[in-house]
Amino acid sequence: MHYPEPSAESALIHAGTRRDRGEPVVPPPLLTSIFASAGDPGQYPAYARNGNPTWRAVEEALGALERAEAVLFSSGQAASMALMLALADGRERILLPRDGYFNARVLAAKLVPHGAQAVLVDLQDLGEVERELRRGPALLWAETPTNPLLRVADLSALAGLASAAGAPLVVDNTVATGLLQQPLDLGAVASLCSLTKSAAGHSDLILGAVLTRDPGLLAELRTWRTLGGGIAGPMETWLALRSLKTMSLRVRRQSATALAIATHLASHPRVTAVHYPGTCASTLELARKQMPDGFGPLLSFEVDGGAAAADAVIAAARLIVPATSFGGAETTWERRGRWPGEVAPESLIRLSSGLEPAEDLIADIDHCLA
Ligand code: PLP
Repeated sequence: MHYPEPSAESALIHAGTRRDRGEPVVPPPLLTSIFASAGDPGQYPAYARNGNPTWRAVEEALGALERAEAVLFSSGQAASMALMLALADGRERILLPRDGYFNARVLAAKLVPHGAQAVLVDLQDLGEVERELRRGPALLWAETPTNPLLRVADLSALAGLASAAGAPLVVDNTVATGLLQQPLDLGAVASLCSLTKSAAGHSDLILGAVLTRDPGLLAELRTWRTLGGGIAGPMETWLALRSLKTMSLRVRRQSATALAIATHLASHPRVTAVHYPGTCASTLELARKQMPDGFGPLLSFEVDGGAAAADAVIAAARLIVPATSFGGAETTWERRGRWPGEVAPESLIRLSSGLEPAEDLIADIDHCLA
């Protein structure tokens, strides 16, 4: 009888699980910097910067989600740096979204002496992307939906343009995660995820990963991790493995709640704009195609009255926590313009849906806006 491969959701639950009699079903974190070894150090694990068996199960779970090999890093930024160093070398330019995660732009600009020049583009403007790609050997760094404006870019179209220009396409998939969006299937050579957000989802760790199906890039990423030292600690890795078991439940619930909140905000008299892939008419069809199982936990909205009014809304909350980041169990929000280097409208509030009942959150939001 044909026995089908277990789904990625089962892999998220079972990665690392042991079933031999007497073994702990849940593998413990391995806290060591060295392994007993002698002779050829390539034969066995010798030093934990080169590898820690605790990483393996998390990499296996993430790999199953996107049918790829995963390389775990100490943070999303460490993953981004390794990816930029691995791919920007020998290229003149790295094209990044103008409205994407601001620290990706800051990092790319810092890396100029070691790689390519950072050039900002609008990923929804395919003409602009094509023009910039034609100017010289480049790396195309996409992010969709973007943080914090949640704009959706057409990954298949970007992959087509990148491939015609001989440029690798990488996608920061942090907001959607591999559960909701599959960049490698759409033509990207690498998909990046900050596990700090909904993948781990409990606001208690910082980790990141890159996924790829390209063996050359995989080897490069592992080399940059070993030499650069951006390695994941075993305790964080173990917490991430525990968290991945519930990732699917959490991400689906967060997406449903975010959609309910965005829909509610769209008709609120004090709200001047709502940014969410599930309610943005101009890209809704694309978002449904590219993210068929949900639009993610993150939304943003603008209120009347400017920055001071937005700050007052946030301060009035009884349930929603004033904090940055996203993807946690507790709903959080912040006025995004408070960060130097961010380019958000001044009254833009970015909200991350947690796991509380949507009615409680909508009641808190209505109270804050009143
Ligand atoms: N990519 C996106 C879209 C992010 O929002 C963030 C962090 O906010 C990162 C990457 C960086 O991840 P980390 O904070 O884990 O370094």
